[in-house]
Amino acid sequence: MSILIIDDSQESRLLLKSILKAAGYTDVLTAGSAHEAFKILNLDGETKAPTPIDLILMDIMMPEIDGIEACKRIKAREHLRDIPIIMITALTDVEILKTAFAAGAMDYIAKPPNKVELLARVRSALRLKHEMDARKAREQELLEVTRQLEEANQILLRLSSLDGLTGIANRRRFDEFLDVEWRRGLRESAPLSLIMLDIDFFKAYNDAYGHQAGDDCLKVVANTLSNTVNRPGDLVARYGGEEFAVILPRTHPEGAVTVAELLRAKVEALKIPHSRSRVSDVVTISLGVSTVVPRPGYSTAALIAAADQALYQAKQEGRNRVRVRYPAPFPDYTLPESGKITP
Ligand code: GH3
Ligand code: MG
Ligand code: MG
Repeated sequence: MSILIIDDSQESRLLLKSILKAAGYTDVLTAGSAHEAFKILNLDGETKAPTPIDLILMDIMMPEIDGIEACKRIKAREHLRDIPIIMITALTDVEILKTAFAAGAMDYIAKPPNKVELLARVRSALRLKHEMDARKAREQELLEVTRQLEEANQILLRLSSLDGLTGIANRRRFDEFLDVEWRRGLRESAPLSLIMLDIDFFKAYNDAYGHQAGDDCLKVVANTLSNTVNRPGDLVARYGGEEFAVILPRTHPEGAVTVAELLRAKVEALKIPHSRSRVSDVVTISLGVSTVVPRPGYSTAALIAAADQALYQAKQEGRNRVRVRYPAPFPDYTLPESGKITP
């Protein structure tokens, strides 16, 4: 470890250096003035890199810049702040020592130095510096590990099938699931139902109660939807923003409409106050339902589009209600009378 001696007296520098060398400290630098020391320490340098100096032994009485002022300037620099400074001084006046400690000195030794005392203080200061360096290195490592973890979490969330806010299935999972169920429907000639739903006047909800409350509302609604749809083969997903989707495999239109109506009623029953809704004084949802028996040559897009149109219709016709529509290429369903399925 390297030690810098700052003293205007050459005799004093040589004495200190020889004691340290004799004790095995080979890396000892000397400076005859504060200015010279600042150059060695790269005090005004642009670089924030730590200097290789581990300990400074500083004379207090020096021409131009004295030891106390030099100490202050060194401690003011971030890249030098951790270097312990021991004052070596003929002045053992209490007031002067107080100023030296206030300036950032960690210890002092009276001049002329006692060899045993000097070496003991140097040893403990160097040990302290070593421990501080090790702690700093550990902190850096920890910061780096934390950064890497955050990065990995981001990647995982993207790859995962869960929505970060609500914890239910995300859009990606929805797409995969619908695809799988479509192919199963094809093989089994089984009906596949889809409910698209959207919170009513949710922009106004955010405006009235704040975005955080909006997020909380989304969580509660998502939770209610997934607790209500509990057949193991079903999937509730956050489709985007305040829009959710429910996939009901092997489910006939009547069944899907029953589920949709149940979801509507459950959300309404939450009684989440919504002073700016124009359909109710609580949070409500509008729902669009569609059902197909998958056929070759068609895709899930027609099913999604039909459920979307039904949702749009529910909004148009007053919100807080369920509407049904079947995909255009599948005309062989008869629509249930909409009056029977909505309040
Ligand atoms: P409508 O009844 O026609 O659906 O009206 P709306 O205000 O709900 O519809 P619009 O699509 O205009 O606004 C949706 C709003 O949902 C926009 C945005 O403020 C809010 N929103 C979307 N995603 C989030 C979210 O993750 N958190 C919160 N807090 N708000 C969201
Ligand atoms: Mg909405
Ligand atoms: Mg919307």
